[in-house]
Amino acid sequence: MISDKMKAFVNSSSAIRAMFEEGKRLAEIYGAENVYDFSLGNPSVEPPSEIKEALIEVLNEENPNMVHGYMNNSGYEDVREKIALSLNKRFDTNFGLENIIMTVGAAGGLNVILKSLLNPGDEVITFAPFFGEYRNYVSNYDGHLVIVPPNCETFQPDLEEFEKSITAKTKAVIINSPNNPTGVVYSEDTICKLAKILNRKQQEYNKSIYLISDEPYRELVYDDLEVPYLTKYYDNTIVGYSYSKSLSLPGERIGYLVIPGEVDIYEDLVAAANVATRILGFVNAPSLIQRAVAKCLEAKVDVEIYNRNRELLYNNLVSYGYECVKPQGAFYLFVKALEQDDKKFAQEAKKHNILIVPGSAFGCPGYVRIAYCVDYEMIKRALPGFEKLAKEYGR
Ligand code: PLP
Repeated sequence: MISDKMKAFVNSSSAIRAMFEEGKRLAEIYGAENVYDFSLGNPSVEPPSEIKEALIEVLNEENPNMVHGYMNNSGYEDVREKIALSLNKRFDTNFGLENIIMTVGAAGGLNVILKSLLNPGDEVITFAPFFGEYRNYVSNYDGHLVIVPPNCETFQPDLEEFEKSITAKTKAVIINSPNNPTGVVYSEDTICKLAKILNRKQQEYNKSIYLISDEPYRELVYDDLEVPYLTKYYDNTIVGYSYSKSLSLPGERIGYLVIPGEVDIYEDLVAAANVATRILGFVNAPSLIQRAVAKCLEAKVDVEIYNRNRELLYNNLVSYGYECVKPQGAFYLFVKALEQDDKKFAQEAKKHNILIVPGSAFGCPGYVRIAYCVDYEMIKRALPGFEKLAKEYGR
């Protein structure tokens, strides 16, 4: 018998993955070109060429025992130093290598920080809609995820509801901007107000509340929008970053945590995160790709390719009668389902070989997520199906 806890995880296992598997099944029946799989956030834009060059350079020029060997559990010192300097240059911060912990992607980083912070029963607040894996990550450490209901007008966080949801048990708040699944970037005004509420509540309860900024999409923004760097707005901020999307490297499993010196219990937290990395079984973030990304800190994927997809899909769907906030970043559209039951609506879309994920998977029923990190031509081929689907609902 597997453990009860694992049984529960398996039973609620990701709806997104299930849809991805369904896509493969349909492709076998109808041919891959006639199936429109918008289910998974797997980058479609190639990694920048600098990555390949950096990998070759590391392999050719660096000591193999160092490149493939164990290191400090927090990562190579020189890599962390380069990342700190790059952040300081871009965001006018003041980090050193001691503030950076290399992680196994954003997922690894979130697990490391939650393991370091949570006691059983501690509450972690997040805002719907949210990346569904937060439920599992918080549950891994017997925490309790508290979900602030969505503000479906703008998909900015509902701060009144947020304030009400903070209790003496609140240990952390996870925010994600640019957001998966809405593509919305939380405004500076939102961030300032959120920080003010947190400071007030820290005083009221006489305890620290940590803000965890999960930001794998930071670099994927459109129309030159700026994404505020949260450590500058609230002292108890920890940043979780990943190269999965910004450099299209999700399989390489590489990212980092930033734990600024201003964080209460800074030294204890850095020490805990270092040990958490080891005892969670990662031991350290993968070595070769650590060394390669350190050479590519200013490299970028071509965001214009995602932007073209965004414009094509958004403009057409709106013209067919769908409702959606235009995404400002990431590569997702979060569209109002044309009936209340988002799961049923996703099933109806599947009849047109269109695979999309019900909003319930993100704590926001009544919507569906369309991941447009796909081939432009596939979007074009899928549009008639979206149009017919809208017509079936009388649009
Ligand atoms: N956080 C968010 C909001 C995501 O969308 C994802 C992946 O899609 C992750 C974390 C996990 O990213 P990684 O592949 O870096 O672990």
